[in-house]
Amino acid sequence: MFIITIAHQKGGVGKTTLSLNLAYCLADSLRVAVADTDPQGSISSLSSMLAGIQVVDLDSVLKREVADLDAVIIDTPPYLSSRLPELFAISDYVLIPTKAGFLDAMAIKATIALLQQAMAKRSALKAGIVLSMVLPQSTLNDEVKTMLSEYGVPVHSTMISQRVSYVRSPVTGSVFGSADQRAKTEVTSLASEIIEALQ
Ligand code: ADP
Ligand code: MG
Repeated sequence: MFIITIAHQKGGVGKTTLSLNLAYCLADSLRVAVADTDPQGSISSLSSMLAGIQVVDLDSVLKREVADLDAVIIDTPPYLSSRLPELFAISDYVLIPTKAGFLDAMAIKATIALLQQAMAKRSALKAGIVLSMVLPQSTLNDEVKTMLSEYGVPVHSTMISQRVSYVRSPVTGSVFGSADQRAKTEVTSLASEIIEALQ
């Protein structure tokens, strides 16, 4: 079983949306659960609607009482939670979504600092930054990627665009419940990059 934690101390960067979408994507071939560690409880409140995805509590993940699962995705709160070091310590992969802005890129430094402490203790921990809610074909995306590449954490080549189908995810389950082929391709490609990094 592998654990992916989606973290960023800011709200509104797409953590919960990516948690749902990656969970649905992986659930195509794996037994997947999401652990909602955000007190806002967005994913927990959707649990009855999430077909094929379990919502588990963090304690059962920490106690490894989730052995019948292949993958757990942990959604985290929109602040620098004191629990992040504990979550990073049990994770196989940390995904940090950021909007494609210079101020946004600067704002992930605190999360990266915690991540690097965890990586120093455990070299097997993998991580990636993903640009989220990007305007496709904007030259800004590459400029921000260049800035992020200096942080010492790989930047995913896949970017998640700003698209209505992502906003509808809580209603459709995920972009896989929509007709938005481009969004499906993005999420599938991001999931593949994560799985490849884990191998
Ligand atoms: P976080 O969990 O980091 O606070 P959310 O996933 O709740 O962020 O997303 C914040 C807002 O942005 C929500 O209204 C959500 O619907 C919207 N959103 C998230 N990802 C996208 C996207 N790729 N395209 C358009 N809107 C998005
Ligand atoms: Mg959230």
